[in-house]
Amino acid sequence: MVNAPSTTDAVVVGSGPNGLAAALTLARAGLEVLVLEAEPTPGGGARTLDLGLAPGVVHDVCSAVHPLALASPFFRAFDLAARGVDMVVPEVSYAHPLDGGRAGIAYASLERTAAGLGVDGAAWADLFAPTIEGWPELIDLALGDRTHGMGAALAKAGPRLLAQVAARLLEQGTPAWGRRFQDEVAPALLTGVAGHAIGRLPSPVAAGGMLMLGTLAHTVGWPIPVGGTGAITAALLADLEAHGGTVRCDAPVRHWRDLPRARSYLFDTSAPGLARIWGDRMPARVRAALSRVRPGPAAAKVDLVLSGPVPWSDPDVGRAGTVHLGGTRAEMAASEADAVAGRLSPNPFVLFSDPTVTDPSREVGGLRPGWAYAHVPHDCPVDPVEMVIGQIERYAPGFRDVVVTALGTPASEMANHNQNYVGGDIALGELTTFSMAQRPRWALDPYSAGIPGVYLCSSAASPGPGVHGMVGWWAARRALADRFGRTEPVDLALSP
Ligand SMILES: Cc1cc2nc3c(=O)[nH]c(=O)nc-3n(C[C@H](O)[C@H](O)[C@H](O)COP(=O)(O)OP(=O)(O)OC[C@H]3O[C@@H](n4cnc5c(N)ncnc54)[C@H](O)[C@@H]3O)c2cc1C
Repeated sequence: MVNAPSTTDAVVVGSGPNGLAAALTLARAGLEVLVLEAEPTPGGGARTLDLGLAPGVVHDVCSAVHPLALASPFFRAFDLAARGVDMVVPEVSYAHPLDGGRAGIAYASLERTAAGLGVDGAAWADLFAPTIEGWPELIDLALGDRTHGMGAALAKAGPRLLAQVAARLLEQGTPAWGRRFQDEVAPALLTGVAGHAIGRLPSPVAAGGMLMLGTLAHTVGWPIPVGGTGAITAALLADLEAHGGTVRCDAPVRHWRDLPRARSYLFDTSAPGLARIWGDRMPARVRAALSRVRPGPAAAKVDLVLSGPVPWSDPDVGRAGTVHLGGTRAEMAASEADAVAGRLSPNPFVLFSDPTVTDPSREVGGLRPGWAYAHVPHDCPVDPVEMVIGQIERYAPGFRDVVVTALGTPASEMANHNQNYVGGDIALGELTTFSMAQRPRWALDPYSAGIPGVYLCSSAASPGPGVHGMVGWWAARRALADRFGRTEPVDLALSP
């Protein structure tokens, strides 16, 4: 813990990637910044911790795979590579095993992916061709500031790309989603990506996530940082501290009275959490809007220690940085519908990663970490270990024999290590077309808490979940303009 001043320019509550992005943007603008973090360690959803499961083996407790951190304008300006963060891009971005030893393999190379998909290869290539060509414009649009600069981002994308994206959303986000495919491998492979949106399938919001993440798989790739996600947090912290910022851990903010005096406050919290902290001091209509953000279905986490690689029936699956498990497109649509309806599926969607595939340093003494989470109903109290191991075993017979130990965190306990993830709602609110257009509420300024100088800077606000730092960046720029009269861009580059 570092001694902090009793008054300061800006207080940031929460040290997740958005909180740190906000804090270092403000610190680089010359402000005095204090970050208050409830947990004993900083980083929120971007922490790599020793969970005591095996000596020296460390685990990504939340995020592990980072296409958004490579692609986001904030991180491109911040330049992780220049700061020594080695984002290793696997040859296979993601894989999707099916029964009978078959699997869909999404290589970083579009051509290679299409070649492996046989009869559906051309349809796959056609689906992604325009968005691959226009990916920087697409990312600027998807991660853009919803109130300022949207017009410029739309104009930059241009009518042709926008029409191509709209046509693909209409196709993949509706019951027409099967029309371009003949076999079941390519649709299953796509649905694994759409499933990242945690919700009903098909839907426009899932199709949007699929198009963005699927495009990044064939452009920047789906990288895994050497040493784990904590390397990203360490780079953010080092920059913040180099610019005079202070982080105080074990410092939960429960009420506005817990806050030191400051000219501005930015909250890396959930929307209802922010409303609770300010209570009656927040205008009633804003408080009502933030309090009624509906939670989405949940994630339940499993951290594994493995004695060797997963014995996938199709060995190519073992070259993937990320593996999606849940069977065919129809099976996954059914299991996601179960999670939405509050039923525990017998065949839940599971995401798995073995970071040792890209980073041999993760293996210690012959033991390696395994990262997995399952989609379950909101607040589900069931230990997810058996459902995750069973799902992997289905496509990798003998998997149980390489499991040395496993720690399950039920959805109902996800908030124990990050109070934003109440009931396992890791997206901080249901993802709908409406909420992805602007969240947590429709307003001229969605980052404003309705109190002068108070802003929401977490993934509860637009552009939403993921390790991209964009909410923090946008909210900090808003605070700089409103409270400090600073409108010039803040340079994020590493000083020589
Ligand atoms: C299991 C899991 C897997 C994921 N996988 C990926 C992935 O592979 N790739 C990816 O891009 N994203 C992934 N995500 C999502 C990603 O982690 C989040 O979207 C991202 O971390 C959000 O960043 P944030 O800064 O908005 O909030 P968070 O990272 O959640 O950080 C919020 C911080 O604020 C603190 N806080 C909250 N309230 C208070 C308070 N009142 N007082 C003090 N401190 C407070 C919390 O303790 C926390 O440290 C995953 C998430 C989970 C849970």
